[in-house]
Amino acid sequence: MTVDRDARSTVPLPADLADRPTDPRRGVPVPFVSDAEDGTVEIGRVVKKRAIRCALSRICGLCGISLEWGVTFVGSAEEAEANAFHYPPLHRGCAEAALRLYPALGEPVLGQPARVDTWALVVTGGFELERPASRQGDQRVAFHANAVSEDLRLPG
Ligand SMILES: [Zn+2]
Repeated sequence: MTVDRDARSTVPLPADLADRPTDPRRGVPVPFVSDAEDGTVEIGRVVKKRAIRCALSRICGLCGISLEWGVTFVGSAEEAEANAFHYPPLHRGCAEAALRLYPALGEPVLGQPARVDTWALVVTGGFELERPASRQGDQRVAFHANAVSEDLRLPG
């Protein structure tokens, strides 16, 4: 799939997300949670240390600015079904912009291991952070929403 640069340039971005550094190759903001501070850019990755910081300091995984009450998680429909998200909490505006921006790149984005057919967007008053129980198996942190007020499905 080719990237539709025109569509992408017309996606309105929340100011704080627009202030993020831009991925030079893709022309999109580098998500706060993807930035390993080592100069490498992998637009879809979740840097574990940053994901934990987002959860504990209640900051947005995309723009890196403080969250207000009610946070938004994005993920696959399967993640929503299991109530186990792997991408950190987000501002709603950042989440909506991200779903218009990143999947159009045609590569795995927003912490997903592969491209996603149906995205979930879940708004919740609270969540729990789950760290890996041992050094074996899935080493990602997981987020469990516990006061869901909205649960939407959107095409990938
Ligand atoms: Zn944000």
